[in-house]
Amino acid sequence: MDHLPSLDAHAHFDPRRTPDELQDAGAVLAMTLSLDEATGRANADREPFIAWGVGCHPRKIEAQVKFDPDRFGALAERLPIIGEVGLDTRWSRVPLDVQLRTFRTAFQVAAKLSRPVSIHSYSATRLVLDELRRTPVPVPILHWWTGNATETREAVALGCYFSVHSAVARRSVFRTAVPPERILVESDHGWADPPAAIPCRIEWVEHLLSVQLQRTQRQVRELAWRNFGDLVREAGIAPLLPPRLAKRAAAQPPVAPKTAELF
Ligand SMILES: [Zn+2]
Repeated sequence: MDHLPSLDAHAHFDPRRTPDELQDAGAVLAMTLSLDEATGRANADREPFIAWGVGCHPRKIEAQVKFDPDRFGALAERLPIIGEVGLDTRWSRVPLDVQLRTFRTAFQVAAKLSRPVSIHSYSATRLVLDELRRTPVPVPILHWWTGNATETREAVALGCYFSVHSAVARRSVFRTAVPPERILVESDHGWADPPAAIPCRIEWVEHLLSVQLQRTQRQVRELAWRNFGDLVREAGIAPLLPPRLAKRAAAQPPVAPKTAELF
């Protein structure tokens, strides 16, 4: 069996980490919390399996207040992913109107540049779906999704992918309401956590999903890679990915047709 690295669709790294410290993290879509954090990444193409995003986290009050749409747009032109962005009505001290201003800008930029968006929707699943209707984006990825079955079906119909965290992997909606071709796996690994721990955390999510989906863990990993390959093609972001990651994505067989209508 050839080696297929783990693929983490949503994690965080302290930007001061060196490429050496990140080399055992597997393939990662690395989210940033603020434009300051993303700025250094837009100039770095040092990690062969890490794709960096530009984000502004809904709980980060300083980043939200300082959010500059032009600067965000310029960073998004150079980076393959937008994230982490989103809405949070429970744990955020940022006023909702400020969160919405940032989130709407992120969606407008994602629509204009065709970027996948990794979306925080904790306690705001309904609001996030309303925003997706308002401004459709090419590849929305709902991270750590807690929406109910009705909202989940709505999200599927809106074209969403779901990056599944271990804390939510046992939820039955990922078996009953989400087509397998929309599933990704994530760790939401913390900023200060050791990057080399990510593959183990991804294995644990893959195990939980393998039970849910009645597949082997290897099949879940292959599924996540195929779905990633598909979303890379859908958004057309291959030229912005590190070359080895882009090659791995391009090697995945297309996942078609979509089966949203079955749900
Ligand atoms: Zn996160």
